[in-house]
Amino acid sequence: MKGKIALVTGGSRGIGRAIAVKLAQEGCDVAILYAGRKEAADETVSLLTAAGARALAVQCNVADEKAAEAAVKEVAQALGPIDILVNNAGIVRDGLAMRMSSEDFRAVLDVNLTGAFHMIRACLPQFVRRRSGRIINITSVSGMMGNPGQANYASSKAGLIGLTKTIAREVASRGVTVNAVAPGFIETDMTASMNESALQKGLSAVPMGRIGKPEDVANAVCFFAGDGAGYITGCVLKVDGGMYI
Ligand code: NAP
Repeated sequence: MKGKIALVTGGSRGIGRAIAVKLAQEGCDVAILYAGRKEAADETVSLLTAAGARALAVQCNVADEKAAEAAVKEVAQALGPIDILVNNAGIVRDGLAMRMSSEDFRAVLDVNLTGAFHMIRACLPQFVRRRSGRIINITSVSGMMGNPGQANYASSKAGLIGLTKTIAREVASRGVTVNAVAPGFIETDMTASMNESALQKGLSAVPMGRIGKPEDVANAVCFFAGDGAGYITGCVLKVDGGMYI
């Protein structure tokens, strides 16, 4: 992937950082977007630079369509035309549906689903014009199985699968592929905020009996971004230790 330009949303921490680093190790120049943690974003940029990549971090709330458009322009101006878009930015606001506020429901949909749509819409004209491009959306097995306490999150991730398949059909003839990776339980700040009993319950549902690493997800993203996946589009690949079989 030497010379390719990748844009990873939510690249300051966790899975997004692992994806950005793996793409840099594979030869890409990489821009990351982050919500607000500048220190974490700067740390990722240092890791990317150490891997030999040109790198850039842009603060951008992907839920804000104007900000998403501006960020895509800024990255293209700084690094060159984008080849690979990874929609990884995501949040949780868990709670049982009976007690979930509309605000918490909407906030998760706005970032996880509408944010990805904003990024795709902003990148697609350049992908279509150049008749090439890779879009990889990070969904979740929660969106495939449902998960108590995650009506907002599971809806956003199920929506992301519909978005993946629809855009895949819309741009398949233009040389652009669109795929999704669905992680199960992965060791990041997101799972660190779960209480011990929820974590143990979740782990007991993983046939491989261990929590996944961000690098496990990054490997799958790199596969979809690489030349070997040129004839694959509209696919959802689970990286979940067998959690959802
Ligand atoms: P994380 O550690 O909580 O990191 C979230 C990342 O998203 C951070 O870089 C954060 O930026 C960024 N972000 C949050 N809101 C944003 C916004 N409005 N605009 C732009 N960036 C935003 O999460 P993670 O565990 O690595 O998860 C990454 C993705 O994998 C998410 O889509 C998540 O749903 C999915 N996933 C995770 C798991 C898991 O077990 N961890 C399982 C399935 C799916 P700041 O650093 O600035 O806050």
